[in-house]
Amino acid sequence: MNSVYLDYNAAAPLLPGVREAMAPFLDAEFGNPSSLHQAGQRARHAIESARETIARAIGAEIGEIFFTSGGTEANNLALWGLARARLKAGAKRIVVSAVEHPSVFEAAAFLSRAEGLELAVVPVTREGKVYPDEVDRAAESDTAVVSVMHANNETGAVQPVREIASPLRRRGIPFHVDAVQSFGKIAFDVREIGCDAATLSAHKIGGPKGAGALYVRKGTPIQAIFHGGSQEKNVRPGTENVAGIAGFAAAAEAALRAREEEFRRLVSLKKDLLRGLAGESGVTVNGPVEGALPNTLNVSFEGIDGQALVTALDIEGVCVSSGSACAAGSSEPSHVLTAMGLKEAAVKGAVRFSMGRGTTGRDIELCLEAVIRTLRRLRQVKHAG
Ligand code: PLP
Repeated sequence: MNSVYLDYNAAAPLLPGVREAMAPFLDAEFGNPSSLHQAGQRARHAIESARETIARAIGAEIGEIFFTSGGTEANNLALWGLARARLKAGAKRIVVSAVEHPSVFEAAAFLSRAEGLELAVVPVTREGKVYPDEVDRAAESDTAVVSVMHANNETGAVQPVREIASPLRRRGIPFHVDAVQSFGKIAFDVREIGCDAATLSAHKIGGPKGAGALYVRKGTPIQAIFHGGSQEKNVRPGTENVAGIAGFAAAAEAALRAREEEFRRLVSLKKDLLRGLAGESGVTVNGPVEGALPNTLNVSFEGIDGQALVTALDIEGVCVSSGSACAAGSSEPSHVLTAMGLKEAAVKGAVRFSMGRGTTGRDIELCLEAVIRTLRRLRQVKHAG
């Protein structure tokens, strides 16, 4: 049984109250929200009340929230849906940053092949930051959609999405923001940013897996990618995951209630973790020290294979990640760290620590002890070999 869990960017445990909010819809309240009878209408009411909660949480209007099966689906819907709605107007290109999650990056690549659109990939700095000017330059007037994430899942780098949004807005180019990792952790308000679409996912903030949402600004044309139902105003047909949606709303409420306090607490834990790791030789931080998520720290250990370290730490009872969850298990080097210009050895030696509501100072101490012990052992084995 693992005793220290530092992989919150992959999945977070349910927040208090989430299970209770979901329970009725896994049991007595099983009605289909599209049914006219009372059982159906009670389920409908739960969805509409959750929609109001999520809308309020990000500064949106109720009618601008479309529930999906999670972040991956919402990202695919955003890219395909926004781009396809602009094809008739002569749209010819898609613009994304080089550090997007695969559910944006690969959706964009697939869309570009399928529709014959040019894919422009905006580079990032050594710290994994996107320059707004570069996005503006890449987004020519025939651009179907621009997508830049708010916070990166691997490094925690927070992108200047507000600065990116304003010139695009003036030029009428739709701008999508993947806010899966930022929502609930740092301030995220769609009106303040000025984006046209945004992706959220429940399980990164202490909600259930398999629930998420796409915000689409009122009046923004979007085409469905699924067909065969009128749910979610035809934008996302399919019977809604009522329990998941109820849990998502409960998690959003709980996360936002504690956000500012958690921010301060996590910043302090991250400092402790960084201080402890920096005491070892050959440790470099990947990503910005300022302007990053408070819970995420990505470091490279010189001469160490990140996957070997992750596996060894797991045996010690410490759960961390050698990259994003989707990349873990595959031996593909992280495209995020590669885009930041890290050498191959540094990419291979990278480990991500991500904290959350349950993380304590004791967890950081235990993690540091295990990392230092394991590092020394792995380095000794290497020297002996
Ligand atoms: N976007 C980002 C930045 C993520 O980190 C993830 C998940 O890791 C996703 C999208 C996909 O979300 P989901 O797991 O809900 O499909």
